[in-house]
Amino acid sequence: MSLRLFDSATHQVRDFVPLVEGRVGMYVCGATPQAHPHIGHMRSAIAFDVLTRWLRRSGLQVTSIRNVTDIDDKILTKSAEAGREWWAHAFANELAFARAYDALNVLRPSYEPRATGHITDMISLVERLIAAGHGYPAPDGSGDVYFDVRSFAGYGALTRQRLEDLSVAEDSAGSAELARKRDPRDFVLWKGTKPGEPATASWPSPWGPGRPGWHLECSAMARRYLGAEFDIHGGGLDLRFPHHENEQAQSRAAGDGFARYWLHNAWVVQGGEKMSKSLGNTMTVEALGKRVPLVVIRYLLAGPHYRSHIEVADTSLAEARTAYERIEGFVTRAAEADAMVAEPDSAALAALVRLPAEFVAAMDDDLGTPAALAVLHETVRAGNTALAAGDKHAAGQAALAVRAMTDVLGVDPLDPHWNTASGGAEPALRRALDALVGDRLAARGTARTSRDFATADAIRELLAAAGVLVEDTPDGVRWSVRTDGETH
Ligand SMILES: [Zn+2]
Repeated sequence: MSLRLFDSATHQVRDFVPLVEGRVGMYVCGATPQAHPHIGHMRSAIAFDVLTRWLRRSGLQVTSIRNVTDIDDKILTKSAEAGREWWAHAFANELAFARAYDALNVLRPSYEPRATGHITDMISLVERLIAAGHGYPAPDGSGDVYFDVRSFAGYGALTRQRLEDLSVAEDSAGSAELARKRDPRDFVLWKGTKPGEPATASWPSPWGPGRPGWHLECSAMARRYLGAEFDIHGGGLDLRFPHHENEQAQSRAAGDGFARYWLHNAWVVQGGEKMSKSLGNTMTVEALGKRVPLVVIRYLLAGPHYRSHIEVADTSLAEARTAYERIEGFVTRAAEADAMVAEPDSAALAALVRLPAEFVAAMDDDLGTPAALAVLHETVRAGNTALAAGDKHAAGQAALAVRAMTDVLGVDPLDPHWNTASGGAEPALRRALDALVGDRLAARGTARTSRDFATADAIRELLAAAGVLVEDTPDGVRWSVRTDGETH
């Protein structure tokens, strides 16, 4: 095992040494389902999905946790605006996140805990903090409980900030909150229910009815599933402060070792600006999936280094599409020439193919996906040369290596997940359907050329009745099988 990872707590690339040999425990901050996801959210999921795949491919047994923050101030505000119960609002958006993860081939985490299912864990963590002298109930009877930042020398360690340089915590803009605190930088552990807040978003506690603070939720869930100390904590760069700083402070102040490595992915940007909810509606997986195949979106989000920003624009989408089609085209042609290529699934590939040493070295170097992609494209070039020379064996070997490498990034062209043209059917069925639909489309093209629009329309209707949607694009005719209820 020679994996090295950039630990954002120490700002250094460090050898990755698991706490327990052969196993990895990883916690990634998941969705706050206040709204539908945009691809900025998917970028984080994909970055840690690639890490999970790489750890597993390296022979480690990974327990991955990605939580759902299903109770939070933003959910209460947004659900009130939408005029529905907060849990209905949260669950509808949670389902939208799940569809987007699935559409982009993000593996399910080992466990996906909801904050509302762990209120007792959260209360016991607050009790431990109060007992240790690091938490205190507000003296005004509001039911709030705060973390006392001045009581804990390690506060600021994760983001290397000194307490005296920090300003007021983000949850205390109002003077009422400020008056309850010993220090304006103290942050909330438990929020007492205030007048006008829904009684359903309120749980009994030793400090009166209330709900957990956001930071506390992750600390409690990480401990429940991974223990007091675990290997990797991940999330988007924007979560480093205050969220992750506060998570670490709470857990360590309570006596837990907490995360040994911190990994943060960079953003998706548009015109150099971080993608935000205001831009989000044009950048959902659904909206982008209408412009390019889903696998191209995944390729675009998985290819750049996870610590580099990704510009999503027409040019970057077009470049990703061209690059991906080169890979896909080679694997498809090689599969037609060599039956071995198409058959193995992901596990069979891992057993069958040794990854190129340069690819392994690139991935072991803090998940160096750009260098790994260079090896991948070099293998595609060599494979195309072998195909052109009629060397089926060499082409087949190259194609298997390409499939094994793309599998690590979640973009294997022959992964049944991506066979949306045939609704995820087996390769043999896909070939049969390709031939039949291709024949009808050719006939339609001939009819249109000779201005026989009645025949052309009849063919289109025949296909539509069979559930095959035909789309005329500037790049030619495209078709897909209608899969109602899916995101594409
Ligand atoms: Zn978190």
